[in-house]
Amino acid sequence: MNRMNISDRAAILLIYTGGTIGMKVDQKEQTLKPFNFSQILEEVPELGKFAYRIDSYTFNPLIDSSDIEPSHWVRMAEVIEDKYDEYDGFVILHGTDTMAYSASALSFMIEGQTKPVIFTGSQLPIGTPRTDGKENLISAVEIAAAKDSQGHAVVPEVCICFDNILMRGNRASKVNSDNFRAFRSENYPPLAEAGINIRYNTGIIRKPSDWNQKPIFHKTLDTRVSILKLHPGITPQTVSDILCGKETKAVIIETYGSGNAPSKEWFLSLVRDAAEMGKILLNVTQCRAGGVNMDIYATGKSLKTAGVTNGYDSTTESALAKLFYLLGQFPDIEEVRKYLDLDLRGEISK
Ligand code: ASP
Repeated sequence: MNRMNISDRAAILLIYTGGTIGMKVDQKEQTLKPFNFSQILEEVPELGKFAYRIDSYTFNPLIDSSDIEPSHWVRMAEVIEDKYDEYDGFVILHGTDTMAYSASALSFMIEGQTKPVIFTGSQLPIGTPRTDGKENLISAVEIAAAKDSQGHAVVPEVCICFDNILMRGNRASKVNSDNFRAFRSENYPPLAEAGINIRYNTGIIRKPSDWNQKPIFHKTLDTRVSILKLHPGITPQTVSDILCGKETKAVIIETYGSGNAPSKEWFLSLVRDAAEMGKILLNVTQCRAGGVNMDIYATGKSLKTAGVTNGYDSTTESALAKLFYLLGQFPDIEEVRKYLDLDLRGEISK
């Protein structure tokens, strides 16, 4: 634990997991390599101007987010649980590649949250002149520390703060690999926008039922979930391998448009087989915006009849995290189905 500055004001824990934000160019190899977290703090002296206490916790080893595993999400949850009473908010520095998966996962793993958990990162390393890392980090810290007139956190949610926009974590997806606006939340408006001031969209931010409650940290995840992305030309063998895999307990079917799939008999018959094997089949659209409605087209209706569950307007990242979480909580598949259909953390609009 690295302690920077002590005051009676808000206390923030930065959890540095890895990613571009903490990298610099290795001159010899001409590749990006992680550097010591204390150098991040040197690079952002502005953080010292906040009258906050800012401490840091660094993952060892640091992880390029392409290597993120559910065990890392458990580690993040453990650190937050362990330090929950000591801090007013948590900022997780994370690579952008899988940030939306991690933010989705943490949103389900923390139930009854009363404090902000804000993910951020950057497209350019923080040491480079045009870096977006500084702005992202400073805004994330300010949002994590923000309190209302009653002393409650303004954003007690798991979020992604990127390019001046605060998004609900389980609504965001990475959509651009080289633009500073790397994330979008197409199906839910921003929770805040950072301009000269940070403007909070308070009416749509989730609040706990009891501000004094200690959240429950769920750390059991069941990862026996696959994703089937439909495409013209997909073969029966591929569909069968994914839908009917022996290990698989649930499959997210990434369908076309408003939840449509091929109407070919071989396809529907494989869907029926998988449903009869007791597998959960969750329909999520490939479209970046909008959701699933299996009642519009015959092709969607046949899926519903074959036993496919509506994923509404969920992102794939959030659907995966929700299934990992629910399968980890409930051995009974009917319980999983019941909760899958509910909006648990603001992840779906019904
Ligand atoms: N590959 C990096 C990562 O996701 C990219 C980034 O940090 O944005 O860890």
